[in-house]
Amino acid sequence: AKELGKNNWVIFDEKMNEQVIRTSKLENGLKNALHSHEFMVYYQPQYLIKGKKLFGYEALIRWYNPEFGFVTPDSFIGLAETTGIINDIGYFVINEACKFILELDERGWKDITISVNVSPIQLSNQMFEDKVMNIIEYYGIRPERLCFEVTETAVMQSFKDNVDKLARLRKKGFKISLDDFGTGYSSLSYLKSIPVSEVKIDRSFINDICKKDEMNVKLVRAIIEISHDFGFKVVAEGVEENSQLDMLAGMNCDMVQGYLFSKPVPSEEALRISDNCMQG
Ligand code: C2E
Ligand code: CA
Ligand code: CA
Ligand code: CA
Repeated sequence: AKELGKNNWVIFDEKMNEQVIRTSKLENGLKNALHSHEFMVYYQPQYLIKGKKLFGYEALIRWYNPEFGFVTPDSFIGLAETTGIINDIGYFVINEACKFILELDERGWKDITISVNVSPIQLSNQMFEDKVMNIIEYYGIRPERLCFEVTETAVMQSFKDNVDKLARLRKKGFKISLDDFGTGYSSLSYLKSIPVSEVKIDRSFINDICKKDEMNVKLVRAIIEISHDFGFKVVAEGVEENSQLDMLAGMNCDMVQGYLFSKPVPSEEALRISDNCMQG
């Protein structure tokens, strides 16, 4: 038994070691990814429920590395944050989003909004506002065309600073979306002090909305009502089924996004989606 115990330790150790090696490999990969053009931005369409009109797209980063293959954002964003690489990744995404906006412009879509995810690290970076202004000025894009998706947790960390910063961005014309709404703490009371233009109900609530879970239905309805009272638009993410769409329409939700309409797709494909909307 002692012998076995010893072996277990060895196995455990090796596993830990593997983990450490993998993380440091991933970290090195991440450091080179921008220069090696391994990142791509995919776009997922968002629609107004009323009139079934295309409203915008959410920009979502994709990383393909020759050694690791596709690495999902959930497994590298955290690492990008702790290493600070997230700042450059973020500016890359905003740059790409601006190029995409110009392509939409050319096709006659002059007021489509592109939403980009902004991590707490990015938001608290002192250069963020200036950099963003430089980028949109370079492309000649109005701030109204961009929406920054922030999570409650992002705002909670150094609340005053981040709220001030968001308020300034909002004043300049940028839209602000409160992402993953309902998953954090003290959501409702903070709504009044965060300068958002839109609230995005987390996928987990939408998932359960048709499972005869009365509490969940009431919760979603309440979130939509309160958001409207505050003057915010409401987006539901992760809509996969028609039954969910019907429920949300009945609750006066403003916008929807999810696999029911489209997965996130490369820009060329996203442009085709907008072309088809024009015809339809
Ligand atoms: P998120 O901002 O909540 O993004 C929504 C996630 O749900 C995306 O996963 C999207 O592909 C997925 N999704 C969309 N519709 C559906 C659906 O109908 N069903 C299901 N099951 N999933 C759906 P993704 O692209 O893997 O991104 C995961 C997270 O990584 C994002 O969550 C966001 O927090 C982060 N992320 C992605 N791109 C960026 C980025 O450019 N910058 C930063 N800071 N974070 C990013
Ligand atoms: Ca998001
Ligand atoms: Ca979300
Ligand atoms: Ca999320």
